[in-house]
Amino acid sequence: MGALFGTNGIRGLANVDLTPEFAAKVGVSVGTFFDGGEMVVGSDARCTSPMLLSAVISGLTSAGCKVYNAGMAPTPTIQYTVKKQGVDGGIVITASHNPPEYNGIKVLAGDGVEISREEEKVVEKIFFEETFRRVKWDQVKEPSILEGVIEDYLASVTKHIEVEAVRERRFKVVVDPANGVGSLTLPRFLHSLGCKVYVINAELDGRFPSRPPEPRPENLGELAKTVKALGADLGVALDGDADRAIFVDETGNIHWGDKTFALIAKFFLMKNPKSTIVTPISSSSIIKDVVDEYGGSLVFTKVGSVDVSHKMKELKAILGGEENGGVFYAPHIPVRDGTMTTGLILNIMAESGKKLSELLSDLPVYFIKKSNVKCPNELKGKVMERVSSEFEGLPKETVDGIKAFFPNGSAVLIRPSGTEPAIRIYAEAKSEDEVNDLVRKYAALLERVIREASAI
Ligand code: MG
Repeated sequence: MGALFGTNGIRGLANVDLTPEFAAKVGVSVGTFFDGGEMVVGSDARCTSPMLLSAVISGLTSAGCKVYNAGMAPTPTIQYTVKKQGVDGGIVITASHNPPEYNGIKVLAGDGVEISREEEKVVEKIFFEETFRRVKWDQVKEPSILEGVIEDYLASVTKHIEVEAVRERRFKVVVDPANGVGSLTLPRFLHSLGCKVYVINAELDGRFPSRPPEPRPENLGELAKTVKALGADLGVALDGDADRAIFVDETGNIHWGDKTFALIAKFFLMKNPKSTIVTPISSSSIIKDVVDEYGGSLVFTKVGSVDVSHKMKELKAILGGEENGGVFYAPHIPVRDGTMTTGLILNIMAESGKKLSELLSDLPVYFIKKSNVKCPNELKGKVMERVSSEFEGLPKETVDGIKAFFPNGSAVLIRPSGTEPAIRIYAEAKSEDEVNDLVRKYAALLERVIREASAI
């Protein structure tokens, strides 16, 4: 049996891998999994999203589901809608930050969180064995359109914001939603908080003509320049489905998500000491240092937002985050949400009375470097076993690959890729030379071990 789900749901090239026939088959499989229950569906603004959404709705209704269509909206908005409507589950058509020719299908449980890895296996089994639930012709229900989805969602986010404190500051904010669905929520949310809002790249356009939909620093030059030129307090870049947010400070500096998440964790722990913070094993030690310093306990998960959400649910944790700008705030919903994250940052700026650059300059500094070494999939197990003996006697985390922490504060994570024939190295250290040395050392070690393993 093949695999349908990757790290982030079902992804592929639209109209090549993800054809309407394929999407309809996923729809009927998911409808079977939910036993013909009630489902909320929606999509991002990609060119192929309406096509795939129609196909998924056909499949779901064929299985007897009652479908409520939330239309085009950010992924976290659709996730929140599933939870609020009290339905059995949901489906989102989105490929998040992938290039425009891609699309994807996310399957949600009744609380709006993606179904678990075990549940994905059940859906896969139904899909490949074609054991579909098909209802009689007079049991097929007509889909309904849901109204007021964005309003309800923004009302929930706003509940967790110090509205008066933020309003008083009259923040000037520039938003860059990458021509994605974040255009529908974030500017409106900021207006409601009394901010002076400027938008760039805010027309919905599934071709992503202005910049790639991944908010990586190299894609955010226009935002950084605009923040500086306008003398704004903050710049916010979203990914294509608005679940991740990357921030630019008032001097035009772009900050990667590990720093902003660490800032949110710090202020959260100052108010809620001893809380549990959840983050993937690939997150930088900035998070670990801040959580240690402010008396929280840090729990590592496998790499993937689904794993963070499920660990948070299991531990009843309130805050989770990823280095890529995904922050999970459970009192709203334990999934990553770019609009909620922006609200949390504004809360901190309002309460502290400090500028974002000042707030972030208080955090520990690490140099981070990543590398990949090619490794055939069948050798990964053997190679990882051999590598683990290199780290004897050091504190380690082994939830996904091996992360070893060295006494001088540097760390290295060696992790087999889930999607490619490669092993990934993530290194971090207090100096640039040191991080380069670490990557060189462990890349050479891996190459040697892979050579030895393939010679046997
Ligand atoms: Mg995304």
